[in-house]
Amino acid sequence: MSKINEGVILKTVDYSENDKIITIFTEYGVVTVIAKSLKNGKRANFIDIGNYISYQIVQTKGLPILTSVRLINSYPEDKEKYPFYLMFIVEVILKIQRNDQDEKDLFSLIIFSLSHIFENPKLYLFLFITKLLIIEGVFIDLNNCLKCGDKFSEKDKIIISSEGIFHEMCTDSDLYISIKSLKLLKYLYNFNIKSDSIINIDLDEKTSKELQYYLLLILENFLESDIKSKKYLY
Ligand SMILES: [Zn+2]
Repeated sequence: MSKINEGVILKTVDYSENDKIITIFTEYGVVTVIAKSLKNGKRANFIDIGNYISYQIVQTKGLPILTSVRLINSYPEDKEKYPFYLMFIVEVILKIQRNDQDEKDLFSLIIFSLSHIFENPKLYLFLFITKLLIIEGVFIDLNNCLKCGDKFSEKDKIIISSEGIFHEMCTDSDLYISIKSLKLLKYLYNFNIKSDSIINIDLDEKTSKELQYYLLLILENFLESDIKSKKYLY
């Protein structure tokens, strides 16, 4: 019997009338398989973007063929806005997809995010972006000025860019970050998805807009491309 794998479906493409090519994110990176004879039967319902599945495959000369699939979780797609947040997460993961790599941290983050995002979409989305950037090793230093290296004092006005934060006099840019947004970023940075599950924080409209702007700035700079589905987040 072949090994049982687990993963989240990122993409499905029609291959022939009854077959689909499926892209799955696993602890070992992205895998692509063919699912045959999907037209009828219960299996077809399991093959949907964002579904967390367990599956078995058989290797062939071409793409591996899916031999069995079981649904672990399909998450609450009926919840308002959930599909938009799912679309965003999937687009970002597809942009950084890699094969044959240890992706346990990223995999845990995706499962955590899909399981919780409907509870408070904006906050869990911000957490997803923050943790993703930390995993990728590109999250900005929130404690020291990128130019002079010094810490910030209470009365400093702080400027943010996609690379880091600065004292007002250490940069020409004038994109200020509020103390509230910075505090929230630090909270998200320190949040432990292995032991905590509930984000316990108030997010007002203004801070939410600010944080979304900064986090997308850093994320798109890292990905070196625009995220199309961000337009659904407003
Ligand atoms: Zn400085």
